[in-house]
Order: sequence, then structure tokens, then C-alpha cells
Amino acid sequence: MSIAQGEFVGALDCGTTSVRFIVFDSFANIIAEHQLEFTQYYPRPGWHGHDATEIIQVAQECIAGAVSKLEGKGWSGKSIKTIGITNQRETTVAWHRISGKPLCQAIVWTDTRNKGEVTAYERKLNEVGFEVEDGSFDRLLTAGINMIERTGLKLSTYFSALKLHWMIQHYPEVKEAHESDNLLFGTGRLMGRLCQSIRLSPLCNLTGGAAANGLHIIDVTNASRTLLLNLNTLEWSHSLLRFFSLKPSILPRIVSSSEVYGTISSGPLEGVPIAGIVGDQQAALVGNKCFAPGEAKNTYGTGAFLLFNTGHEVIKSQNGLLSTVAYQNGPGAKPFYALEGSIGVAGSAVKWLRDKMGLINSAAEVNVLAEKESTSGGVYFVTAFGGLLAPYWDTSAGGMLIGLTLYTNPSHIARATLEAVSYSTRAVLEAMKADSGVELRHLKVDGGMTNGDIVMQIQADIGGFDVVRPEMRESTALGCALLAGSAIRLFGWDISKPETLDKVNTAGSTTFSPKLGEEERASGWKGWQRAVEKSRGWED
Ligand code: ADP
Repeated sequence: MSIAQGEFVGALDCGTTSVRFIVFDSFANIIAEHQLEFTQYYPRPGWHGHDATEIIQVAQECIAGAVSKLEGKGWSGKSIKTIGITNQRETTVAWHRISGKPLCQAIVWTDTRNKGEVTAYERKLNEVGFEVEDGSFDRLLTAGINMIERTGLKLSTYFSALKLHWMIQHYPEVKEAHESDNLLFGTGRLMGRLCQSIRLSPLCNLTGGAAANGLHIIDVTNASRTLLLNLNTLEWSHSLLRFFSLKPSILPRIVSSSEVYGTISSGPLEGVPIAGIVGDQQAALVGNKCFAPGEAKNTYGTGAFLLFNTGHEVIKSQNGLLSTVAYQNGPGAKPFYALEGSIGVAGSAVKWLRDKMGLINSAAEVNVLAEKESTSGGVYFVTAFGGLLAPYWDTSAGGMLIGLTLYTNPSHIARATLEAVSYSTRAVLEAMKADSGVELRHLKVDGGMTNGDIVMQIQADIGGFDVVRPEMRESTALGCALLAGSAIRLFGWDISKPETLDKVNTAGSTTFSPKLGEEERASGWKGWQRAVEKSRGWED
């Protein structure tokens, strides 16, 4: 077979449960892809770990697998002109500056082992406040639910600073590395590896050249999930570092989401520039081409994440949402911001039905089971496996199935599971409406869970809006590919000129419109709110 030379862009998408490498053409057609799951560690209730080294290996296998499939289709691997990387955010990796080895398992964003620290820091915030840049003290008024003005975030188990703090407190190796200025911190394991001078780290091998020069970088979107970034200046906040007792030597250099950071030093993509790095939810916003203020998307993966583009303005939510960096199109470019509603549990509840409850054999089967009943039979499932994130932010909420009777069957439970993510999405949208005054007419969606038609119909019914699902739903991967392509103007792409992307991913979409009557919708919503109230205060 003759080998053709083409022009493609690669995307390394490192999710919570799997890694995939996807090769796109200029229209966002998928030319080749390879996906592998990796091990999830749940050693104790509330704990969730990843082995950073395993993920790196899996990432390399995905790249090799996809390139080999590309070649199998007659294209040279050299047709990949640049790659972007997107990673799960908040997940915290600590590694040693000299050995380059991770010092412990990564603490995943879903992990709630640092609950005690959150309580302690809430107290500190209320009693002491934190020193702002001018030396005065900024005291926040109500524990727990207040946004730390600078970061757009909240004190929560979710964000990286308190995960890293927990590691320092509980692992002597991490503590020692911190004290001797040998601790390096990153979010989303790949980011850490990409950015670091670690010979052993496989992604470091990818960027060997740059890494040898001690490149330790993080893009603004990932940095905005640490509780350490000043959202307005896009610089690390030294007062927050002091507040969390963290040394500046741990910090990576902040870079934009679209620029050439380095080139891959070995393997099938040797010499290819890495030109896009972005957190996975922001990647999905870009991949859905939500470039204008007011555009929003919801990604239903392990959790569900609704992001709403607010343009160059940081909008501070009064209703339990976060403010975050959406993307920065190159060094010095004005960043775009977003309001975000982070829902901790979405597809992971489906996995739980499969792996722990044995109700289904595959994730897709949840739709088949749920379809057997037209309602959940009065059952509500508050999937607060690790408390509740947006818009409730309640670590005391306990996971709860309520409304069970002798009539309840597995189909009702399956349906209640799918309804839970739809109600949570509605709660986030109600908060967005209250913050922005904008009522969403339709919601763009993507992520593994959107493969099921039933869950999409349930979402339309519960939300009372149209749900628009694109044909090609690898929006997260596409987002980092667009940022990488844009950095080198591949295919003439330029994120700052959305018209240059008009031909990207136009393959069509399916719209799910509400079929439920207003009265039923209102009564279901009321039931959900009652159920959430009942779940609160369960955990200490
Ligand atoms: P992540 O990037 O967080 O790893 P993905 O976007 O790959 O997540 O989605 C995986 C999640 O989607 C899993 O938790 C799985 O339970 C769920 N899922 C996958 N297929 C379906 C389906 N057909 N219906 C409902 N849920 C699904």
C-alpha cells in the first residue's frame, strides 16, 4: 500500500476513567483513534486514586495505537502536524524534582478524604481571613459556601490546594520534598508530566527537549482550578499560597491554552509540536464552539460540567456556581471566562449500578433498563456519593435513594439514576439563570453518557428545554485539537476568528425536545428539591 502524506491534528484526551488519542482532519472527522481505560483505586470510602505512571503508559499506548491505525489506513504518521492535550482537572499529582517520580498516588478530583481540612480552613478563613496583596486581611463571611473572591472557587474537597495540603500532612516523602523545595505540583497527571524535567515520566519523554530545560508549566485553565490563581491577573496568588502553607517552589509557570510549548522528542510522533493544553471541561466548551458570551455546553462524563461563556468578564456567581478561565488564545491574549456548574456524579452512578450493584452489564444497558418504565415510580436518587457540588456545595449530604416501596423495581432505580443527573443539571441552570438573567433555550451536550437516547430525553423533559447532541461528540478532544491547530494556524484555524472554524464538525445533530407536561415537570422538580433537602446533614 502506498503511504499518503496528509494534514491532521491529534488530541490526547485524558479523562477520569480512560485515555484516548484521536486524529482529526480539518472538518473534525475522526480519521483514527485509540482508547484505553486505566485502573481506578477506591481504597477507602471517599478515597479515589490514580497511578500516574500507569496513565502515562496508557497515554503512550493510545498514541502508538492511533498512529498505527492511521498508517493502516494508508496515511503517514508524519501527517499529524501538531497535538493538543486535555486532562481531567483538579486531580493532584506530587512528584520529586530530582527523581522525577510521583511521590504518591494522584488524588482524583472526586476524592473527599480532605473533608477535615476543608472544615479547618473554613474556620481559619472565618477567624483569621487571609492576607490580601496589600497586606490587609480579607475575611469571608459565611463558612463553606462563600467564594474566595480571587479564585472564583470555593473552599471544597474538590480543588487542588487542599488535596496537596493533605498529601503534605499525611505522606512524609511529600512533606520532606516540600520542605526541601523538591516538590513539584501539577493538576491532571499528564500536565505534570508534560511540564516536568522527568526522564522517567513518559510524557516527559514526549517533550524531552523542553523538559531537559526544566520546563514546568500549567495552562491558565488548569491553574484556575487550584485555589491558588488570581483569576483577574492570571498570576499565582502569594497570599493564598501563604494561607494554605504552600511554598512557591512547587508551582509551575502559567502559560496560555494555545501556543507551541515544545516538541515531542521520541516515538511515532517525534518532532511534532504540542501546541494546546486545556482542562477537559474548558476543552469541551471550545470543542462545542461556544466562543460567544452566553453560549453553554454540558458534558456528561464521570461527572457533569456545565460551562457558560461569559466573555472577557469574570462574573461572580451569587447562586453557587464557579467562575473559571474558559481559555486563553495565546500568550498575552485576553482570556475568556466562564461560569461553571460542576456536578460530581453523572456517569459514575451508572458505573456504580454496573460494578457495585450488578443491575446492568454495561453502561449502555442503563438505558434499556430505564426504558422499561415510563417514570421512576416516585423514587429519587440523590447521588451525593461525596457530598454535593454545584449549586449546593454541601459536604454533609449523603447519597440517598428515597421513595422506595414494594412496587419499586430495578427499572425505577435505573430511571432515577438518569433523572438524578438531569435534575442536577436543571439545578445548575436555574442558578445560571439567576446569575446571568439568561434563560437557556437549548443545551449543547457531549460526553460518554450522552450516548444514551433515554437519558437525553429525560434531560429535555426535566429541564423543559431542547437538548442538542452533535453527531461527533468527542468535543473534549476536539477542543484541545482546535487550540493546538489554531496555535500553528493549521487549516487556517484561528480561535479568535470563529468563522475560520465554520467547516469544523458540521456533521449534524439530534435534538431532544421536552414531551412531559408542565405540571408533571414542576411536580418532579419539587420532589427533587425535597429529596436534596433530606440528604443534607447526613455526613458529619
Ligand atoms: P470521563 O471523560 O469522565 O472518563 P466519558 O465521557 O468517557 O467520561 O464517559 C464515561 C461515563 O459515561 C461512564 O461513567 C459511563 O458510566 C457513562 N456512559 C457511557 N456510555 C453510556 C450510555 N450509553 N448511557 C449512559 N451512560 C453511559
